[in-house]
Amino acid sequence: MIVTDYLVIGSGISGLTYSAKIAEKFPDKTITIITKAIEEESNTKYAQGGVAVVLDSEKDSFNKHIQDTLKAGDGLCEEDIVELVIKEGPKRLKELMQWGANFDIGDSGNLDLGKEGGHSESRVVHHKDITGYEIERALLHRVCQLPNITILPHHFAIDLITNHHLNNFKPETLLCFGVYVLNQKTGHIFTIKANSTLLASGGIGYMDILQILLLQLETG
Ligand SMILES: Cc1cc2nc3c(=O)[nH]c(=O)nc-3n(C[C@H](O)[C@H](O)[C@H](O)COP(=O)(O)OP(=O)(O)OC[C@H]3O[C@@H](n4cnc5c(N)ncnc54)[C@H](O)[C@@H]3O)c2cc1C
Repeated sequence: MIVTDYLVIGSGISGLTYSAKIAEKFPDKTITIITKAIEEESNTKYAQGGVAVVLDSEKDSFNKHIQDTLKAGDGLCEEDIVELVIKEGPKRLKELMQWGANFDIGDSGNLDLGKEGGHSESRVVHHKDITGYEIERALLHRVCQLPNITILPHHFAIDLITNHHLNNFKPETLLCFGVYVLNQKTGHIFTIKANSTLLASGGIGYMDILQILLLQLETG
């Protein structure tokens, strides 16, 4: 069994960013990242176009970006989340750059802002057309510099360990104690016990339309 203060499942932009921040804030705490393939494998690595962020305050504004996003979302967006994400954008971009991510510079000497579908203004910062690869590279480099972070590649999270099996369980008291993990190299299954567990495992893998239909049929 491994015991850690913080357990992070996934080594994409979410898991690595969270880990770096926690490790910097609490240097005496241990952070363990498990990831099911090699460290860099993630959707993050394959993102190409770039990161949409409002930087040109003369032509662009948070409000314009919010309206573009709500329009493209066609009623599916939670407006307060859209607003939060867009307003955080410039700060989070600065943070990525401080961690060593490089973005292309335009003729003006400022960050080159691309314009993509759904955007009414040029606001997409990018690194050639391999932006995600560059972000993943920089974040992994930062994480590897922090001595209180351990990354376990080829470790697959099988199930979260929670208290939901207890007789007197109430949903509002749901607790997570860690995870059961498969070491894919050895076939060994073991427990990681953690005070805090973050699921940063990306989208729902292998959940294609057929499986969704089957699930709907099974549940009536
Ligand atoms: C081809 C492509 C192009 C894209 N282009 C853009 C773009 O231009 N701009 C943009 O903003 N977004 C883009 N995206 C979307 C963007 O890449 C994702 O939204 C973002 O990378 C998600 O990051 P994440 O950290 O949440 O998840 P991910 O990067 O998917 O990371 C999930 C991690 O969890 C691990 N994992 C999953 N399940 C388990 C398990 N059971 N046990 C252990 N580990 C597990 C995975 O191996 C991975 O390391 C693109 C995506 C793709 C695929």
